[in-house]
Formats: sequence, structure tokens, C-alpha cells
Amino acid sequence: MKRYVSLAFNVPVPKTFTYESEEELPLGVRAIAPFGRRSLSGFVVDPEASPPEHLDRVKSITRRIDEAPLFDGAYLELAEWMSRMYMASLGECLSAMISLGRTEKEPAAFGVDEPAFDDHDLRLSAEQEQAVEQISAKRGGFSYLYGITGSGKTEVFLQVAKRVLEEGRSIIYLVPEIALTRQVVDTIRRRFGESAAVLHSRLTPSQRLREWMRIRRGEASFVIGARSAVFAPVSELGLIILDEEHESSYKSGSTPRYHARQVAMHRCSSEQARLVMGSATPSVEAWHLMNEGRLERLSLTQRLSGGSMPHMEVVSLTGAEGPLSEPLVQAVRETHRAGRQSILFLNRRGFAAFYQCRSCGFVLRCRHCSVTLTYHKVKGKMICHYCGYKTDPPQACPECGSLDSGFAGHGTERIEEDVDARFPDLTVRRLDTDSARKKGSLEAILDAFRRGEIHVLLGTQMVAKGLNFPGVKLVGIIQADTGLMLPDFRAAERTFSLITQVAGRAGRYSPDGRVIVQTFQPFNPAVRYAVQGEVESFYREEIEMRRGLAFPPFSRLLRVVVRSRERAAAERAAAELAGKLSHAAGEEAEVMGPSECALAVIAGNHRRQLLIRTDVFRRTHAAVARVLAAYRTPSRVYLEVDVDPVSVL
Ligand code: ADP
Ligand code: ZN
Ligand code: ZN
Repeated sequence: MKRYVSLAFNVPVPKTFTYESEEELPLGVRAIAPFGRRSLSGFVVDPEASPPEHLDRVKSITRRIDEAPLFDGAYLELAEWMSRMYMASLGECLSAMISLGRTEKEPAAFGVDEPAFDDHDLRLSAEQEQAVEQISAKRGGFSYLYGITGSGKTEVFLQVAKRVLEEGRSIIYLVPEIALTRQVVDTIRRRFGESAAVLHSRLTPSQRLREWMRIRRGEASFVIGARSAVFAPVSELGLIILDEEHESSYKSGSTPRYHARQVAMHRCSSEQARLVMGSATPSVEAWHLMNEGRLERLSLTQRLSGGSMPHMEVVSLTGAEGPLSEPLVQAVRETHRAGRQSILFLNRRGFAAFYQCRSCGFVLRCRHCSVTLTYHKVKGKMICHYCGYKTDPPQACPECGSLDSGFAGHGTERIEEDVDARFPDLTVRRLDTDSARKKGSLEAILDAFRRGEIHVLLGTQMVAKGLNFPGVKLVGIIQADTGLMLPDFRAAERTFSLITQVAGRAGRYSPDGRVIVQTFQPFNPAVRYAVQGEVESFYREEIEMRRGLAFPPFSRLLRVVVRSRERAAAERAAAELAGKLSHAAGEEAEVMGPSECALAVIAGNHRRQLLIRTDVFRRTHAAVARVLAAYRTPSRVYLEVDVDPVSVL
């Protein structure tokens, strides 16, 4: 009797393919099979497929790869949900979920016997105790641990995790970036030993596979990792922890464009597990859910290890020469004299050309979308990347009439040179994604800084995330408002959260922490509320603004990007799709665009976008999926779909 199996491949074709097989192939193993003129590895998703229509054209499996299956039927259901939700093929989803494919061979970053910080005698504070009790009391459901930076959220997570393990259930602990989470990883390894599995991106494929199988067999029941660890094949999921919930790195930047928070919510609901999110700066969506009582809020209000919230001050950059103000330079020097360390934070994002008044700080925004308009040299116009609105750049500031206005943005190199030149006698080191990519250099810099051998750490986004250095007294934010200029409705939220998080690096272990926030816009609400620590006020205003403009959480967005090396082809396809989508989505949804993406050309590809806004998500999602499935994409035109986009650049 002939036997047929279906495979799902990592290709953007929304179907599976049937082959003849000599041997029985179970669900969840990988096999190699001919695909077009190539030979590809695919996942067995149907071990007993029915014979296809054209039997004479059926090809045979070349060989089986895995002895033991990588997933089971329940896991396949998760992949099918992914495929529907994010409009990607089943094979693309399985490949993203079971990412074993990385080939670069690098040693695991951390040894097991790292020296660890002492934590054996921690007595939980009353707030921590209560949070642990409340989360543990439920078998499922979502909670949010909202606690200021340094308030001991990690300890709450670990205590809850301990109880979940005692129930015989498993845990997935998600962090934005595993390389910056060494202390937590060490603690987990020390406390939970062999039952811990650390999914590090630097694991080799064979190390990854070994960890994957250990998790599947239930030998590892405490998994810690970044975004894709949300797919860990744990048995009896009991808890997902989503630390730093607001981080945009939880959203995948390539197909399938999933959000780990959304996947975690889905998994916890369907597997009857608890979800605990945590942050000092929740996303606006999460805050809104908490306010509405749809998400349980647990608060931690105190710093526990001898620290207190730092003193924050604002320095206006208006009229300043160079990127470092006199007060900031003085503060760095004073800090050094006192034998302490400084962190200078530089926001690399946000260097698009935007229009700004140097006298009053006014920034030109779209009258329809409130996002910053971007200047296009070629056309000589200010353009909105959401709705396509165009206008001429003003001669004088529309707010105060000043002629001292124009296109703003300091180059990052210039800032780095300036810092070096200002402190020739201090040891200054840079920490950014470039320097971190070099093997071991991130660890080396962080260790040297921890030992006090570096006086000033100049860093980008990386220094904002969860780092704890006892010697840090001063944090300087070089230009707090760069992110505000991005043509993105989340610009204010990101700025607020970044200032708060970066500031949280100061004074974690001593009461004399100090933060200097340099800005062109001292009165911008995102800056002002962050500096004054007025969290509630920020969210209240921001939520009202979102409501007024019908942006999430008061609507949901779907984004379609059309790209092609030929501009005309991209434009034509975008216009055609806009028509089809408006028709299919009807009155219920609004199709904005086509407009140029803020990053209008990437690697020679012209990019156009459509933003679909709806408050009947299911129906609009279905309509968009139908249109895209039926659409015959012209040759050399490519589509990207992003459901609930986090960034729209
Ligand atoms: P968060 O994640 O909220 O920013 P952390 O979990 O990093 O804060 O905790 C900050 C510091 O407080 C850590 O050094 C941690 O060991 C310490 N800590 C946590 N809980 C307690 C406690 N109950 N008593 C004393 N110190 C604590
Ligand atoms: Zn002005
Ligand atoms: Zn607009």
C-alpha cells in the first residue's frame, strides 16, 4: 500500500505539499523532499495524507531527518493559529517557532559557574508577598506586576515560578534580551538547576535541538529566553512570565510578524496557564486594560535594596552649543570626583529629518494623524507617512514666528566625538548593538564597568534595559526627545518609557541617584511627566489622545507593505490593493494610504504602505486575509503583512 505524507515548508506559499513515503513518518519530524528544482527540509504536518489528485506527479520523500518528533498535535494547533492570525504559511510559522536553523557556531555566552550575587536570605516585602499570593491563588488568568524600576519584580516572578514547579507544571520566562539578563539567568540556574533551560541565540543548532528535546521530554521545566522562547514546547504549561512587557523587541520584525505578548495570551488561554506581565512602564494597551479592570494590577512601590528613586532634573538644549550641556559636564565630573560612575544615554532611533523650531521647540505634525511630518528633499515637501498628507515646509515657525527653524537631528558620531573630547582624562566606553555583536565584547565591557574600571558608559537602547550597577550615581540622557520626532503614533509612549527606564539605572542601591535629562522640548508631556514621575498623568493624557484620534487601543491596525525594486510597480500594486481592501473591508474599516513608508527605500526596494484601521477586528482581519490570498502579486513585487504593527516606519 502506498503511503502519503504532507510537509510544510518555510516558503511564502499558503499550503502544504504531499509526498509519497516508503516508511511511516510521524507527525512532527522533519524530512527532506524535492521542491521545485531544490531540495528542502519540511515538517511533517499530516502523516496520513490522502492521495493527491494527480498521482503521476507525486514525488517521494528523500529522507527523514529527525528520529523523534519535534512537536505534537496540540503544538500543530498553535502553529495553525499563528498561520491564520499573522497570515503566514504554516511552514513559515513552524520554522519561526522551532528555530533550529541558525548555523553560525559560537560558544554559549555564559558558563554555569558564573559568580552570582547573594540572594539567599531575601525576605519578601509585604507588597511582594501579596503579589505572589494573588498570582498563585489562580490557576489561570492574566496579571500585571506594575512596579517602579528596582522594586523587586524578579523576586516575585521567581517565587511564583517556584510554586508552579511544585504543582508539577512548567514555566516560560521571557526577557527582551537574554544577554542583558545574566543575573536573572544565574539565579535561575542556581535555584532551579537542571530543570532550567536557557534558550540563547548563540546556541548552535545542535545545542538548540538538545534543549528543545529536553524541554519536550519534560526534563527542563523552567525555560528562559527572548521572544521566540514563547514557543518552547513545555509539557503542562503553568505560567508564562513576560518581563519588561512594554519592550518592542517582543514583536518580530520578519514573517510571521508575531508579538510574544499576543502569543503568550493565546497559549495561556488555551492551555489554562497563568500569564504574568511586568514593567515599570506598561504599554498604553496594558495600562488601558488595567484601568478597565480587564487585567489585574499588582503594584510594587518601593525600592528594596537600599536605593530610592533618583533626583531628576531637566536641562533645555535650546541654544546649546554641542550635544553636552554645561550642567551635564559638571555633573559627570562631580560624580567622578566622588568615586562613582555615570551612564550617558544616546537614542539612536529617530534621525529622520523633521521640522523643528530652535526657538520654541515646535515640531510640525500631520493635522490628521498627529505624527511628525517627514521632510522629503526631492519633492521639497513635508509628508505624513500615515495618510499621505503633504504640505510645504514653513518659512517661519507657525507657533512663535521665529525664523530660526529648520530640519533637526544631531548625528550620532558627532555626539560620540564630543563626549570623548570633553573628558580626555576619564575612561569612556561605548556600548551599542555594534559593539555587542563582537563576541564577548558586551560581557567584557559590562564586567569592566561593574568593576569600576570604566568611568563613563556611553550607550544606546541597550543600557536602558534592566542593567544593575551599584556604582552608578548619574544618568545623563543626551537628547530625550529624538524619539518624539518619529512619524509614529507611539512616539510619546516610547519616549516616556525610555526616559523612565534609563533613569531607573541610577540610584538602585544608594539614595543619592541623579538624572539629567537634556531636551529641546522640556514642556512636552512625555518628557515632563517622565521627569516628574507622574506616571498616571502621562497615561491619562496619552489614552485620551489615542481615543480622540482612534488609534490603538481604541482601534486595531493592520499594515500591508508593498515593495519592489521598480517604484512604479510598487505604486501600482499598492493602489490596486488599496482598492480591493477598501471594497472588501467595507464601511467598517478605514484604509489609509497608499503612502510612502517613512523608510521609503530600503536596500533598493521602494516601499509603499497601507494602514487598515478597524474596530471590528475579526471581520476586517478575515476580509484582509481573503483579499491577500486571492491577490496575484505582480512579478517582482513583494507583500509584507503586519497584524497589530508596533512600528510603522
Ligand atoms: P525590578 O525588576 O523591579 O527592576 P529587581 O528585581 O532587579 O527589580 O530588584 C532590584 C534589587 O532588589 C535586586 O538587587 C534584588 O536582589 C533586590 N531585592 C528584591 N527583593 C528584595 C527583598 N525582598 N529584600 C531586599 N532586596 C530585594
Ligand atoms: Zn517657534
Ligand atoms: Zn496624516
